[in-house]
Amino acid sequence: MKRILITGGAGFIGSHLSERLINDGNEVICLDNYFTGHRSNIAHLLSRPNFELVRHDVTMPYFAEVDEIYNLACPASPIHYQYNPIKTIKTSVMGAINMLGLAKRVNAKILQASTSEVYGDPTIHPQPETYWGNVNPIGPRSCYDEGKRCAESLFINYHQQNNIRIKIIRIFNTYGPRMNAYDGRVVSNFIVQALKGESISIYGDGNQTRSFQYVDDLVEGMIRMMNTDDSFIGPVNIGNPGEFTMLELAEKILELTGSNSKIINLKLPQDDPMQRKPNIELAKQNLNGWKPLINLEEGLIRTIDYFRNTTI
Ligand code: NAD
Ligand code: UDP
Repeated sequence: MKRILITGGAGFIGSHLSERLINDGNEVICLDNYFTGHRSNIAHLLSRPNFELVRHDVTMPYFAEVDEIYNLACPASPIHYQYNPIKTIKTSVMGAINMLGLAKRVNAKILQASTSEVYGDPTIHPQPETYWGNVNPIGPRSCYDEGKRCAESLFINYHQQNNIRIKIIRIFNTYGPRMNAYDGRVVSNFIVQALKGESISIYGDGNQTRSFQYVDDLVEGMIRMMNTDDSFIGPVNIGNPGEFTMLELAEKILELTGSNSKIINLKLPQDDPMQRKPNIELAKQNLNGWKPLINLEEGLIRTIDYFRNTTI
């Protein structure tokens, strides 16, 4: 049994990771400032003796004796990370410094939840880890993209300079139960709109693509990455290479919900990436046979079921 700190543990992904690590018999400290996460995401874990919840902001130092740290704290949806861009940068950069400092002090292994956004609007397709990306450093997404890129740099440098045991994963668009219904991400937006009979809001012409990964596949990949040999530090892409246009996604969600909602086209946000698809060969080779198991239709059915049974 390990003692594991999860920053951002009350968020969408963090709550699934907390649940899995507790069920595996570990002791979990879930740290969150509840900016985009909610106590309701982890309410079902509060009575578990190996679960502890701490209200804390990662921009401030935090100390605890732990064996492993999963650093997830950061708003992840464009409307939330653009709400207070300076705070988003501070969370990524100061949060990484504080958590790496903790890892150094207590000799913990630390995993960074980086993102496919480090590739920006990619000019190489699909994206391998060797691609350096195409990011606008002064655009509306830069607070998130550059914050995450700087965090990767901090991780590598703490590893090289101080021998900290690090792991970097680049997460591609992930969806599933406990997504925030109103944080503007495409899967939750379309499902909520379809269930409420509201118009489905496609930004631009809907020909931009994304590759959607079900949250259970991600959690499995994260844990396998944490458990790899110390010499494998990443960065490694974790995603599902199935690639869909937003129009295809909207049509699939309309079909699965049986909704009569109409599709409307709204303005495409600035710097919205045109295409995104992970090359996952590195993950397949190094994560003990990991590969995504849940296809889009199956994952959407589970997610729609969650939203049907949740007050939205
Ligand atoms: P989320 O918004 O549901 O979770 C983020 C959590 O971090 C929330 O609980 C929030 O309250 C917390 N948080 C934010 N700022 C904080 C701070 N200063 N101090 C402490 N806690 C703070 O988002 P998510 O989808 O669960 O994303 C989790 C992580 O995975 C993020 O780092 C995100 O960048 C990364 N990621 C997610 C995706 C995705 O598709 N969901 C893709 C790539 C990367
Ligand atoms: N999108 C859309 N309608 C929505 C929300 C998003 O068409 O209601 C588009 C958005 O422009 C982007 C894609 O869906 O091209 C994915 O958006 P999301 O915010 O989920 O993730 P990200 O852009 O960060 O990959």
